[in-house]
Amino acid sequence: MSLLDIHVLGSPILRQETQVVTQITPALRRLVDDMFETMEVAKGVGLAAPQVGRSERLCVVDADDARLVVINPEIVHTEGGVIRGEEGCLSMPEIYADVDRHARVTVRAQDIDGAWYEVELASGLLGRCLQHEIDHLHGRMFTDRLSLLKKRSALKEWEYEKAKYPKNVRVLPVGDLPPEKDGARA
Ligand code: ZN
Repeated sequence: MSLLDIHVLGSPILRQETQVVTQITPALRRLVDDMFETMEVAKGVGLAAPQVGRSERLCVVDADDARLVVINPEIVHTEGGVIRGEEGCLSMPEIYADVDRHARVTVRAQDIDGAWYEVELASGLLGRCLQHEIDHLHGRMFTDRLSLLKKRSALKEWEYEKAKYPKNVRVLPVGDLPPEKDGARA
């Protein structure tokens, strides 16, 4: 396995629509393994393919004891209204904001063998993380969901932070990162 570089906001791939995965190849399995490893080292709870510069419609999630390979996902049901909670993103390090998400979502997706499954009524961190990752698969960042004022302030902070990432790429150090602020980064 190997660590992948993480693309940060400013990298065009984060704004592109992904392509449906039609075949589970050995290369795709390797990508998934590398994404899990990268997510773990970056201490994230989710990671989507565009965040590692790829255009496959897939993400990995490790939240609330659910460790999932999520291929071609779709939100097929939502309920419980909207709930606000803090989010961060591996593609916008150090930026955190409260984001409104569906309280509960049912997601239909394929696993690493191509079999369809459903995560039923995911809530809490898992529900939030799935929604955050599925947004990535359609070119959306969590800051897109903020009010104009909060978005402006998050992007202003980011203007400063992004100088740390030449070419909009974040190269993870080998070995563990120091613990950061609590809060889900995905
Ligand atoms: Zn993210």
